[in-house]
Amino acid sequence: MKKINDIYNVDLTELTHSFQDACADKDFKKFVYDLNIKEEILMKYTSILEEAYEEYKNCANCKGLSTCKNSEKGYRLNPVDGGNIINFSYDACSKYQKEISDNKYKENLDLFEMNEEIKNASFKNVYKDDKLRLPIIKQFKDFIDNYNNDVKPKGIYLHGSFGSGKTYLIASLFNELAKKGIRSALVYYPEFLRTLKASFQSDYDEKFNYIKKIPLLLFDDIGAENCSNWSRDEVLGPILQYRMENNIPTFFTSNLTIDELEKSLSTTSSGVDKLKARRIIERIKQLTVQEELISKNRRN
Ligand code: ADP
Ligand code: MG
Repeated sequence: MKKINDIYNVDLTELTHSFQDACADKDFKKFVYDLNIKEEILMKYTSILEEAYEEYKNCANCKGLSTCKNSEKGYRLNPVDGGNIINFSYDACSKYQKEISDNKYKENLDLFEMNEEIKNASFKNVYKDDKLRLPIIKQFKDFIDNYNNDVKPKGIYLHGSFGSGKTYLIASLFNELAKKGIRSALVYYPEFLRTLKASFQSDYDEKFNYIKKIPLLLFDDIGAENCSNWSRDEVLGPILQYRMENNIPTFFTSNLTIDELEKSLSTTSSGVDKLKARRIIERIKQLTVQEELISKNRRN
């Protein structure tokens, strides 16, 4: 049977050999000696130091975050002197840190049942080939210029064909404003109604009040919902009323013109109520300027 000491000696010899083998690579050697850690400690960590060295080299030859070869994208395995041991930490690289801070403004955008991708919509990517977009973009510029006035500018009721880019356009405006620190909610209206309804027993009031008061609101695809008395008179009506009274900018996208929306809002499973629909439309008219965007379908 081997004595403990023998085992230790064998292991120590092995450790020394594998460390020396690794140090045959001059750059690896320089990398580990530059850590200013005693050799007898370094030796115990050869394989993980090799990993750290690989990551260090990847960073030195970095061509951008998208092609990061490290085991955790945007992070680097770093050896840190811990006295008699070496600690290894995963640290975010400077490019990744910059990406995080560049994207910080996105926290100002709150999505309800919308695809996360929409947070990347930006003015600079809005198609300029289509002249129909130009008056809308001009309105956006005015909106931004006048946002800090005492009386806030009106929102937009943007209607038009399916896939023409209505949602994208409004999202690009909200993104620009998010960069200026303004909070907004982009709400896919038909689905929002379903989740709101499902939250009766839980955070209904919280959700409702949040949407009512958010500084910028988009009700996306209004008119595509199954309109009920509840959604029209208990949700849409009071939210719009509050926003109108308090002059809080509100946007809509819809496949329906405002007259078609009026018709759609007047009929629920409980019957026809033209007056209630008319009241909603009056509020939308107070809150917005109407714009049309008919264009080719941009959806793949
Ligand atoms: P709509 O709301 O009118 O139905 P969307 O805004 O959803 O249309 O746009 C349809 C598709 O085209 C989406 O996938 C959207 O991401 C894309 N899209 C629209 N406008 C642009 C744009 N300016 N740049 C890049 N993609 C766009
Ligand atoms: Mg849309």
